[in-house]
Amino acid sequence: MSLQIALGHNDQKVVEDFLSRQPAATSAIVLDAKAAAKQRHAAEAAAEEGIKVLWEPATQLLAAAGYGLERFPLWGGAPYDVDVLATSLEARHVLVERTIAAHPDGTTDVTAPHFYAVSDRAAHLNVDLAEATALQSDRPVRAILTAPQRYLRSRAAALGEEYHQAGIRHLELRMSPFGGEDESLKKIVDGFQIAQDLTEAGLHVTLGYSGNLGQVAVALGHAAAYSVGVGMMEHVNHMTQVNRKSKPPKPLEDGESGGGPQAGVYLPALAYTAPLRVARRLMEQSDLRVRIGCRVGSCGTSVLGPVLDVRGHYLHSRDLEVATLMAKPAGWRPTAELQRLRQALTLRNQINSNYLEVGQPAIKTRTLDSLIVDIERVQAAS
Ligand SMILES: [Zn+2]
Repeated sequence: MSLQIALGHNDQKVVEDFLSRQPAATSAIVLDAKAAAKQRHAAEAAAEEGIKVLWEPATQLLAAAGYGLERFPLWGGAPYDVDVLATSLEARHVLVERTIAAHPDGTTDVTAPHFYAVSDRAAHLNVDLAEATALQSDRPVRAILTAPQRYLRSRAAALGEEYHQAGIRHLELRMSPFGGEDESLKKIVDGFQIAQDLTEAGLHVTLGYSGNLGQVAVALGHAAAYSVGVGMMEHVNHMTQVNRKSKPPKPLEDGESGGGPQAGVYLPALAYTAPLRVARRLMEQSDLRVRIGCRVGSCGTSVLGPVLDVRGHYLHSRDLEVATLMAKPAGWRPTAELQRLRQALTLRNQINSNYLEVGQPAIKTRTLDSLIVDIERVQAAS
């Protein structure tokens, strides 16, 4: 069980520094689709620690027209057509060759090209592309499966077997939409079953872009790992990503720094990644600060550590949390997660009733509530 870190386009230095301090539970980093060239030093630091270096080909974003797509190394001048790829061995061969060649220096594994699996045709195309990549590459190959949960519900076991027969052993599962603070019990139970089906097919499953959901899935044995961005990407929504690319990027207002989403502040005691302004407001209250603060690494030298070094704190606190879980025997991990989430829920409720300013939205608790019920059910059943 382990944690995988996906780099954003500007995370290379903070990740390099984190890796050079010997993380305890991080097994892989994923270089940014468009910025891998400048992330070489982070890749070298990972290799030195025996941590895998992966890359995101992002072909799933290149099957529809959009803005800025020419900056992706695998953009071929026009959107990929799943129907053409599914019917043309030659087109698939070209795509696989380009994908292997586009992998940046220093990657230890090759990630197969992949598309949003919204139909059997697209799902089988993904398996075929993964198998072809494995046959043509001299490095280990991982597959990524991005698909709507409703599509995967009845097909995960069969798809898992297909990937396994194709020689694939590592798979990142990105159910869409999935994750965040507002998930229902039913959706979580179904999502965990999908991960379990793939795991039982003999795959090392990484629950892609998931925070608490990923950590609980790992604690319960549904997945072997989970991945997050650096202070972001704790949920998956493929259609939102595609829709965003279909509109021209907004011109920057005066004084705006731009550069995409801002990293959130992970507050382990709340099991919550807060927007920076919310975290800052909470940390300013002395009776809260001692409960939600952090004394690890660079945070130990400042009372406001987590909000000063947001991304460095995110990396060491997530890594430490997974390491703490890993250190426990497998049979104790569900109880440990249950305790962690119950304490977080209590504290979130206290904050929602006592510490919010007028107009400030409450911290959502639906996902936490659902996860707690799910773990309680699993424990009752055993
Ligand atoms: Zn910290």
